[in-house]
Amino acid sequence: MKFNFDHEPELASVQLLEKDIEIQIDKERVSDELKKLATFSDAELPAVTRILYTPKDIEARAYLISLFEEAGLSVRVDAIGNIFARWEGENPELPAIATGSHFDALPLAGQYDGTVGILGALEAIRSLKKTGYTPKRSIEILAFTSEEPTRFKLGCVGSRMLEGSLDPKTACELTDDDGLDFDTIRKNAGFSGDLSSVKLKPGHYSYFLELHTEQGPILEEEGTDVGIVTSIAAPSTIHITLEGDGGHAGAVLMPERNDTACAGAEITLLIESLTSELGGEDTVATVGIFNNGPGAVNSIPRNTFLAVDIRDVYADRRDAILETLETRVAEICERRGVRGKCTLINKDYPAQCSDELIDKLEEQANEMGITSKRMISRAYHDCLFMAHIVPSAMLFVPCYKGYSHRPEEYASPDQIEKGVRVIAGTLRDLSKD
Ligand SMILES: [Zn+2]
Repeated sequence: MKFNFDHEPELASVQLLEKDIEIQIDKERVSDELKKLATFSDAELPAVTRILYTPKDIEARAYLISLFEEAGLSVRVDAIGNIFARWEGENPELPAIATGSHFDALPLAGQYDGTVGILGALEAIRSLKKTGYTPKRSIEILAFTSEEPTRFKLGCVGSRMLEGSLDPKTACELTDDDGLDFDTIRKNAGFSGDLSSVKLKPGHYSYFLELHTEQGPILEEEGTDVGIVTSIAAPSTIHITLEGDGGHAGAVLMPERNDTACAGAEITLLIESLTSELGGEDTVATVGIFNNGPGAVNSIPRNTFLAVDIRDVYADRRDAILETLETRVAEICERRGVRGKCTLINKDYPAQCSDELIDKLEEQANEMGITSKRMISRAYHDCLFMAHIVPSAMLFVPCYKGYSHRPEEYASPDQIEKGVRVIAGTLRDLSKD
């Protein structure tokens, strides 16, 4: 037997119960791989920019596939680039257990969002293999295509298509900022298969688990090791376009104006007040884009574009805000003489995580002496869409000050190690029969 000492593992020394004593996570290796993956970026480190189907995205894919193959997993890539790396179980006909996350990064983002869930899943499998364990049920790592909405203004393209809520025809209508359509871009990137083959058949997987950084400050502030997600808030996106007549900033008197920036400002404040009036503690609304044209100091704004994100764990409550918003926007536009249009881009359903998986994750953490807390995910993830077709759950690890989507994003090797260990123990438990 030949030993490879390239990665002399620094094994986590923790008090373990007998059944878990053999799960040892090589946290340095995970840390090295996260750092290496971060180098496939269009931004300078520590920032990471990795946009779907760009050369850096393709290089990152090749790196991940090389790691999967090195670990003895068999790799399949579907027609849009979702990557599946399989550890075949003794009963390959049983629906596999899936675990994974995404590896794209929005502009000037960080190194841990999504990637922890892929490289963590890989380390979980390697740690189980090292114990001599053989699963009955196969375990499959899923590296999703394009969780971030950067290129096509729609998040979770990969998991939406696996779930089936994004059909091939609608996907082909997506275009990027250069006006190129999804189908052309994916084919240019080397993914040419039949789009209708992407959707998973019912019962394809038995469970889905996603390990992810919290992207909020709660776990770190409370000193809790891991968060077990009970539900995922559902996002909705609305685009509001406003058109007025513009004019000279000096010559047109105030009563004569239909300034679209003023209408946009009123709508922005309306969104804030509607959210507190009709929403609850878990309702959040953001006007993330507010652009005015023509964009000159001496010109009255005549085009305004707002991109609005409204989320809630209760779809009905969120939808009530959406309905009221449309009516009230129309009123504001009429009063201000502005031509306005609201376009609903997406209105997704929230997801409840599987009670069985929540209990199992909690049990694993307890047995390993890892502290946990149940929590809601206000950010959405690929798990939101997977949860609609397979019992699913998420495990959060803390991150520095809750930072995410920025270069300062950080989760320590120790924090990641605990999350990976809980995932490994849960995968073992789920795959043993
Ligand atoms: Zn993410």
